[in-house]
Amino acid sequence: NTFQDIDLGDCLNNNIKRCRYVKPTPVQRHAIPIAMAGRDLMACAQTGSGKTAAFCFPIISGVLTKCLSRSQSPGDGWTVFPSALILSPTRELASQIYEEAEKFAYQSGAKVAVVYGGAPMGQQLRELERGVDILVATPGRLVDMIERSRVSLKLIKYLALDEADRMLDMGFEPQIRKIVQRMDMPPPGARQTLLFSATFPNEIQRLAADFLKNYIFLTV
Ligand code: AMP
Repeated sequence: NTFQDIDLGDCLNNNIKRCRYVKPTPVQRHAIPIAMAGRDLMACAQTGSGKTAAFCFPIISGVLTKCLSRSQSPGDGWTVFPSALILSPTRELASQIYEEAEKFAYQSGAKVAVVYGGAPMGQQLRELERGVDILVATPGRLVDMIERSRVSLKLIKYLALDEADRMLDMGFEPQIRKIVQRMDMPPPGARQTLLFSATFPNEIQRLAADFLKNYIFLTV
């Protein structure tokens, strides 16, 4: 019933202490072990439930143990190949997730970056150019970055969709489908997907059926 009971590794455990998280929230207590076991997950979680850490901890842990070294700063005519992608509906939410993920990944060696619409490209591109393991993004800006060949999703091992119902309400389904199509995933099951949503209408269930494999459904 503590974070130490879950094998997140020393670096994450230290950062969790630094954030003064003592006890996992209910969604964290259930979602983190499922995700750490490599399973796909569709989780019901409201704002304030601690869902950000619920998907960030397993992603950071997985990136640190399996994916580091992919994120060297690219050269001329560069493209980055992140290992993990966190999609979020709004610029505000994407920034919040980015700030939390930065704290959780502090001194871990994993690089986190964020891209969102409604802001100039320049600074986001300079940040990406330094290399990125974990990319937090809003769907529209990410599609733009992909079409400019600045981001490739071919090496994505972890995908988290946060507030998936809100992304669909905002009309992002075409962009989300385009993004997921860009992820190569041989061998079968190479990508792990975590879908978080406050509600589960038919459209979300369809998304889960299309993007997740053999998933566990969690409501807390
Ligand atoms: P979220 O639902 O992810 O937006 O988190 C809501 C707030 O709760 C954020 O300010 C988090 O930093 C905080 N929080 C998340 N998990 C914990 C925890 N286990 N212990 C204390 N605070 C937490």
